[in-house]
Amino acid sequence: MKKRKNIAILGSTGSIGRSSLEVIAACPDRFRLTYLTGHRNIELLQEQVRQFKPRAVVVREESNAALVRERLNGETEVLSGERGLQEVVSRDDVDIVISSLVGFAGLKPTIWALEAGKDVALANKETLVTGGEVIMRKVRKNRVRLLPVDSEHSAILQCLQGEKPENVERLILTASGGPFLHLDKKKFSTITRAQALAHPTWKMGSKITIDSATLMNKGLEVIEAHWLFGLPAEKIDVVVHPQSVIHSMVEFVDGSIKAQLGVPDMKIPIQYALTYPERRAASYGKVDFAALGQMTFFEPDRKKFRCLGLAYEALRAGGTAPAVLNAANEVAVGLFLEGRLRFSSIPVLIEKALSQHKPVHHPRLEDIVRADKETRDRLRNEQFT
Ligand code: MG
Repeated sequence: MKKRKNIAILGSTGSIGRSSLEVIAACPDRFRLTYLTGHRNIELLQEQVRQFKPRAVVVREESNAALVRERLNGETEVLSGERGLQEVVSRDDVDIVISSLVGFAGLKPTIWALEAGKDVALANKETLVTGGEVIMRKVRKNRVRLLPVDSEHSAILQCLQGEKPENVERLILTASGGPFLHLDKKKFSTITRAQALAHPTWKMGSKITIDSATLMNKGLEVIEAHWLFGLPAEKIDVVVHPQSVIHSMVEFVDGSIKAQLGVPDMKIPIQYALTYPERRAASYGKVDFAALGQMTFFEPDRKKFRCLGLAYEALRAGGTAPAVLNAANEVAVGLFLEGRLRFSSIPVLIEKALSQHKPVHHPRLEDIVRADKETRDRLRNEQFT
């Protein structure tokens, strides 16, 4: 019998964190949860601790940690802050870290896990968007695995099994197109928070749902694919496929294309990342082709969805430019969710931030952190309508 893998989940109360716990619960012979971390949703975090009995739990704020410590009454060790995160990802009873924090906050903990020699199942795409070069260097140096949880990148990894890198012609990322695929661009300025949060095929957290509505999510995924699979921007394409059944494709030099299909449920790519390179039986739903009837494809409308083009521009500019793209996007999405920025102004704000930045090439972590902070500070001082 195989040894069970010890798993730490960073961000266990989020959408990916909750799906990861379901996968772990379904495979008790293969996986054991050893650490959980959470931020604001301490009620759910406590519930998860009671159910999964990890060795310790980390709560972002010390005040919340104190509350959880009191309520758990010594049952489980409770740590807090960045130090707590750094500590648990380094402990011996961790084989793989699921990195599912939201946004730029995921970068440092992922680096700590890699430096501690842990394999990482990466659900936080902002980590590779902002720190791709640093991250891939750490992966090589520490001889660890960085496994994508993002469904598109999991699909590409699956299509690449048994193939030689030199035979890959291009990657084709599929995009659902989000809720505004067929909406007239003139109406983009009136899009409400509720409309943008209603994703047609995937159920996800609010940040990534807005990113899907602007197509920035696909732009971030293009950058993520560049780092994971080592291909330049011109060999990574995007096609809109509203049914979200083909999760992505790889075209080879002979014109053959391999695609990975499945129902849109994140538990499938999560389980693949945790069992890679093996597969394990699961019952998360199967594609019913007769019920599906048809699959359709469109060229993305880059005039309507300017964020996609901006992501390509940032990738081509290189260095710290993608970190600026990401920071500006996080600020813009936050303002939109607060009702302080129009949906149509999200790309305007990002483009402005990119135009004001001179990229630092081959950045160190400090350069990335600085570019992120400067962008946020600059945007904070502006007035929005
Ligand atoms: Mg994705």
